Amino acid sequence: GIVKREVVELLTPGTAINSNFLNNNENNFLSSIYIKHENIGFAIIDNSTAELLCGETNINNLKDIVKQYKIKELLVCESQENLVKKYINFDLLITTYEDWKADKINSYDKLLKQFHTKSLKGYGLENHDLAIIAASACINYVELNSFGKTKHINSISKIDSSEYMHIDSFTIKNLEIFESLNNNQDATLINVIDKTQTASGSRLLKKNLLKPLKNLKKINCRLDSISELIKNNNEFNMVYEALEQVSDIERIVVKIANNKSNPRDIINLSTSLKVINLIKNIIKPSMKNFCKKINESNDLSKIINIISKTIKEEPSVNILKGGYILEGYSKELDELRDISKKANDWLVAYQENERSKHNIPSLKINFNKVFGYYIDVTKTHIEKVPDYYIRKQTLVNNERYFTNELKDYEDKILTAGDQIIEIENKIFKKLLEEILFYGKEIQENSKILSEIDVYVSNAYIAIENNYTKPILNESSNYILKKSRHPVVERLLPFGEEFIENDLNLDYKKNQIGIITGPNMAGKSTYLRQIALISLLAQSGSYVPAEKCEIGIIDKLFTRVGASDNLAGGESTFLVEMNETANILNNATNKSLVILDEIGRGTSTFDGISLAWAITEYLHNNKKCKPRTLFATHYHELISLADSLDSCFNLNIEVQEYKNEVIFLRKIQPGGASKSYGIHVAKLAGIPNEVISRANHILRNFYDNKTAFNDLYKEQLPLFNDEENISNEKANDLLN
Ligand code: ATP
Repeated sequence: GIVKREVVELLTPGTAINSNFLNNNENNFLSSIYIKHENIGFAIIDNSTAELLCGETNINNLKDIVKQYKIKELLVCESQENLVKKYINFDLLITTYEDWKADKINSYDKLLKQFHTKSLKGYGLENHDLAIIAASACINYVELNSFGKTKHINSISKIDSSEYMHIDSFTIKNLEIFESLNNNQDATLINVIDKTQTASGSRLLKKNLLKPLKNLKKINCRLDSISELIKNNNEFNMVYEALEQVSDIERIVVKIANNKSNPRDIINLSTSLKVINLIKNIIKPSMKNFCKKINESNDLSKIINIISKTIKEEPSVNILKGGYILEGYSKELDELRDISKKANDWLVAYQENERSKHNIPSLKINFNKVFGYYIDVTKTHIEKVPDYYIRKQTLVNNERYFTNELKDYEDKILTAGDQIIEIENKIFKKLLEEILFYGKEIQENSKILSEIDVYVSNAYIAIENNYTKPILNESSNYILKKSRHPVVERLLPFGEEFIENDLNLDYKKNQIGIITGPNMAGKSTYLRQIALISLLAQSGSYVPAEKCEIGIIDKLFTRVGASDNLAGGESTFLVEMNETANILNNATNKSLVILDEIGRGTSTFDGISLAWAITEYLHNNKKCKPRTLFATHYHELISLADSLDSCFNLNIEVQEYKNEVIFLRKIQPGGASKSYGIHVAKLAGIPNEVISRANHILRNFYDNKTAFNDLYKEQLPLFNDEENISNEKANDLLN
C-alpha cells in the first residue's frame, strides 16, 4: 500500500538524541536565555540525557556560559535576537521563537505541568521569573521538535553561582582542561584524570571540573568517599568491576520517552539498575559516605523484575524482527509461535516429500516478499513438474510454482508471523510505559551511579598517579609540598623526571609571588600546575602533591597564554588588557590570580609600567587582595618585594656549565638575574649567524645601558606627566 508520510521529528544541533550525532562522554546542550535590562535568565538542557539546569546572571556572563557548556544552539525570543548577537560574536546557531511565548505566567504553569508540582519552591525557583521563562522556552522547543515527547524531562536544577568557584572561559581554555591549545588531546587534564567507566560518569566528572565547589562540607564529602575506596582495596576493586556493567541509563530513558529504544536497551537498563544492589552488597558499613549514597537510591526491583519476566536475555536490537519477548509471558504469543514453528517444520518436510515424489533433487522451497512462498525448479527438471503445480514466475534458468497446499501454509505462517510481531510490540510498548512511570527514580539512581563512578575514577588516579588528599579550610593559605603538574608529568619523555615544587601563599604575609627565571625554566608549568591543583581540590579530587592546604578560593583568574579576538575587533594586547581588567575589577581577598606575563605585547617600558602598577594595585587595594603568582621576564619587578610588604620573589634554578644552561626546574626564593633567551633561541635552531649577532647586540646594550635608556625616553612623551589623562580618555583610547 501507500506508505504513510508525515514529519515525525525535527532535528536540530541542540535537541539531537540520536547517538550518531552525539559524543557518548559529552553532553549536548541547548540553551535558552531571556534578557531583562542587564540581567538574563538562562536554561540549559541536554535533551539526550534529560538534564535541565537554569539560573539568572548578568548578561556579561553569557559568553562564558555558552563557551563553558559548549552550547550547540541558543534559543532566544525574536525581539532579543539582535541584542544577543552583540554578546555572541562567534559562530553559534541562534534560533528564535515568538515573543508572546516568553510570558511569565504561562512559563510558570508550563513548568508546574511538566514536573507535576503545585509550586516551584522545591526547586528554589519561585520568583525567579527570568530563569522560569528561559526554562519553559527550552521545554517548549523540545516539545515542538519531538512532537510532544517530553516525558523524560522530570526535574530542573537551579545553578546558584555563589556555590561554585568562579572560573571564566579563558581559564578553562588556557589551562587545557578539556581541549588542548594545539589539538593534542593527550595533553588535556581530562584525558589524564578521566578513568570513569560509564558515559554519564564521564559527563559528571567534566561538570565537576567546570564547577568546583566552595562549600567545605560538600568538598570533604567527595574527598572522604575517595578515601573510603583507597582504604578498602578489595571493595574498591569489586565496585570498579561492577561499574563495567553500567550502560548509559540517562540516554536510554530519553530513547524510551521518544519511542526510539529497542529490547537490548531495556536489558542494558535492567543490568545497569541491578548494579546499585551489587554495590550495596559490596561496601562495608565503615564506608559511611558510600552507604549514605546508596541509601539515597530508589528501590527499583519492581522494574528490574518486570523486565526480567518480559524480555529475553540477549534480544535483538530490531523490534520488527520480533522474538524478544520471553516464552511464558503471553499465552496467545506462545500459541502463535507454536503454529509458526510447526508450519516451518511442515515446510521442511513438504520440500523433502516433493523432491523424492517427483525425483527433482534440486527442488527448493523459497520465500520472497513479493511472491511469498514458492517452489523453485531448474529448467532441466521442468518436465517432471506435476499438474497441480501452479506457475508463478519464469526466470532464465528456473520456474517458480505454488500449490494450494503451500498457499494454505503460507497464510498460516505469515498471519502468525504478523500477529507475533504485533503482540510483541504491544507488550514492549506497555513495558516502556511502565518503565517511564519510574523515569524520575531511574534518573536519580543513574545520578548516584555516576557519582560513584567519579569517586572510583578519582581513587584510581590517586593510586595510579600518587595523588594526595587536599586539606581545605577557611584560611587564606595556599600551601603545597612537592607538587606536580598533572599533565606535564605524564607526558615527559621516558627517563625524564618531573621536578616537584613547593608553594607558600597567604593573603596576609605572602600574598604576591613574583616569579622570574630564564625562558624554558618551567615558570608557565608551575603556574598552571598551581591553578589546576586548586581546581582539582575544590572539585573534590585528590591532587598531585605530597601535601596540599587550600583556604577556599572563590574565583580563579588566570592570564596565561596569548590570544586575540581579531574577528571581534580586539588585538592580542587589547585581549590581554581586557582579561587583566576583568581580574582587577572582580578579584576578592579569597581569589587566586595567576598571571603569566602581563604587558608583554607592548613596548618594554609601557609593559613594565603596567605590570608594576597592576602588582601594586593587587597589593594595596583592600577589597581586592587575591593570592597572586606573577611570572615575568621584567627583572625590574624584582625590586617590588622591597617596597611591598607581602610581595616576595621566586625564581627557577638554572646552572651554567661550559657555555650551556642546565634547567633544574626547582623553585627557590629570590629573583633571577638573566633570561637566557638567546640560549633558548639557539636550542630552537635559530641560525648561528643570527645567534652570534644577537649576542653581540646584547653585549652592546649591557655595555652601553645609558644609550639604550635614551632610546626609550624618546618614546615617552606620548603622554607626558602634565597631561593628566582621565580614565575615560584612557578607556576611549583602548576601545
Ligand atoms: P618561557 O619563559 O619561555 O615561556 P617557561 O619558564 O614558562 O618558559 P615552561 O614552558 O613552563 O617554561 O617549561 C618548559 C618545558 O620544561 C615544559 O614544556 C616541560 O616539558 C619542562 N618542565 C617544566 N617544568 C618542569 C618540571 N617541574 N619538571 C620537569 N620538566 C619540566
